[in-house]
Amino acid sequence: MSALVRNTTSRQPGPGRKTDEAARIAALITTLATTWPDAVVELDHRNAFELLCATILAAQSTDKMINTITPALFARYPDARALAGADPDELERLVHRSGFFRNKAKNLRAMAQALVDRHGGEVPTTMAELVELPGVARKTANVVLGSALGIDAGVVVDTHVSRLAPRLGLSTETDPVKIERDLMAALPQDAWTSFAHRLIWHGRRVCHARAPACGECSLAPLCPSADLPGRGEAAAAARPVTATRAPKAAAKASTKPAATAKPAPKATKPAPKATARPAAKATATAKAATKATRSAGTRR
Ligand code: SF4
Repeated sequence: MSALVRNTTSRQPGPGRKTDEAARIAALITTLATTWPDAVVELDHRNAFELLCATILAAQSTDKMINTITPALFARYPDARALAGADPDELERLVHRSGFFRNKAKNLRAMAQALVDRHGGEVPTTMAELVELPGVARKTANVVLGSALGIDAGVVVDTHVSRLAPRLGLSTETDPVKIERDLMAALPQDAWTSFAHRLIWHGRRVCHARAPACGECSLAPLCPSADLPGRGEAAAAARPVTATRAPKAAAKASTKPAATAKPAPKATKPAPKATARPAAKATATAKAATKATRSAGTRR
């Protein structure tokens, strides 16, 4: 049994907490879908083979960077047979900007050779077969199965999902395989792929690692981390307060529960009035964040 389910049931004797948690998770799914209706994998691809190659290349890099590399790669090696027979030096030159290029080039060739030897040059459609390919673990397999083949075999757990799942009270684990197990237990199977990609978008654009934008987050009413003392403020305080950051920090401070909030410091200007942000406004803010992040690129 997952840690999530274990913790949830142990604190509440009756069925009420289970019902509440199921309702909260349903609301998380709905709110994420409303906030990020167009969330998809951000690696450009035309088929499962291309997405498999792109996902292998994306490790320790950014989708934006990989999308600048793959057009030439796929033009030169359009299928598994071509890639399996690639000249190692030429392949390394084509992928060198992705980082760790020697290892990635080696994995790409070995993966393509395995596709030819074991699967007739086609990408297999099961988790068990995919994770047997060189350079492919569950995360890559889930990306390919969910986004290229439409199969909800698991939940993609990348650095963003690993961070957001605990913040949202969906797992207490740190190991990606255990986090995935908790998410698979908590979510309906037909939401596994879409939920993961929406969570990744949310992590890239709103729930940042160092300074989550709780004050602008559509999930805040459903998030147990939103009211944690210091959440967001600690990170904000560690960086210089600029003209654009000051109102956000003040607004966040004013959302603390009255019982725990410290007296507000004497301000030279009145602090912005803290009110519940309407869902539509939060969504609009999140979409604006999308635009900004797209231009910056995001590390996987
Ligand atoms: S409320 Fe804060 S911690 Fe929770 S998901 Fe939103 S940004 Fe992240």
